[in-house]
Amino acid sequence: MTDADSQTTPPADDTSGTASAAPETAVPDTADADSSGDAAAERPAIDPEVRAHLEAVVSAAVDIAREAAVAVGETSVGEHLDAVVEGECTVSHHFSADLPGYRGWVWCVVLATCPTDDADSDPVVTVSEVALLPGDDALTAPEWVPWAERLAPGDLGPGDTLAAPPEDPRLVPNQVDADELESTGLLDEATDTHLALGLGRRRVLSREGRDEAAERWYTGDHGPDSEMASATRFSCGTCGFYLPLAGALRVAFGVCANRYAADGHVVSAEYGCGAHSDAVAPSGEGSPAYDAYDDGAIEVVAPHAVATDSRH
Ligand code: SF4
Repeated sequence: MTDADSQTTPPADDTSGTASAAPETAVPDTADADSSGDAAAERPAIDPEVRAHLEAVVSAAVDIAREAAVAVGETSVGEHLDAVVEGECTVSHHFSADLPGYRGWVWCVVLATCPTDDADSDPVVTVSEVALLPGDDALTAPEWVPWAERLAPGDLGPGDTLAAPPEDPRLVPNQVDADELESTGLLDEATDTHLALGLGRRRVLSREGRDEAAERWYTGDHGPDSEMASATRFSCGTCGFYLPLAGALRVAFGVCANRYAADGHVVSAEYGCGAHSDAVAPSGEGSPAYDAYDDGAIEVVAPHAVATDSRH
């Protein structure tokens, strides 16, 4: 063996490493240099034969890995599953974990070593880390999604606060809704009045916010493609119960004011239902007050039997 192949003997108490135990021995003189990427790049490469030997030694150090795992996981540490070379002279040992609620998880113990100058010594194996990790078939939590992205329509409850973000694309800073007023021809007058008095809203619907709402309403339950609208020849745009919206969406949407229909909902002018104000009631007297009398269900009683019963 060359000087580069020389190794040291591990101390007897070095096999008791745990998750919190940092390696105390076998740190090469280049350890400080390893702390920076530049220094690591300048570190001389380990001879491939030496490296293979060191990794074989660390892979065989199952007892050291098990002792470290038991120090953390106690009786939950099961059989040794495998040893995976993670990097230069670093190997992860995996043990099955028998823990309630952690089906498929494994104890992972990372062991490491390094070459030394002592040709007569065995390499020192140290414990770098002990962790409980999910295996291939482990039950794990779904990927984290920020609450703002998880929020869904209908989640808002009484007393809840749901602030629109400062950069919400559905809103733009303005005192008045120019699109809405432009459609009514009141833009200049209203803008002047509101700005002069410092009134109005801090933000109004952006064009994007307006388009999003129109798309939702048109393709939703009260749009022209809904089951209700498809089953009638009437449309809301010609119905007496239809209250058109004000502003830019007036031409396409309104609110239904029929308590027996889509009362209070925004409906498309192309939506419709059978409660349209022009709907004509079907001819006839309506529903019968009583079920039809079925004379085929009468019980036939023999005259003799009636006479016999009458003597009592
Ligand atoms: S009653 Fe029917 S047709 Fe009339 S506005 Fe309401 S949903 Fe539309």
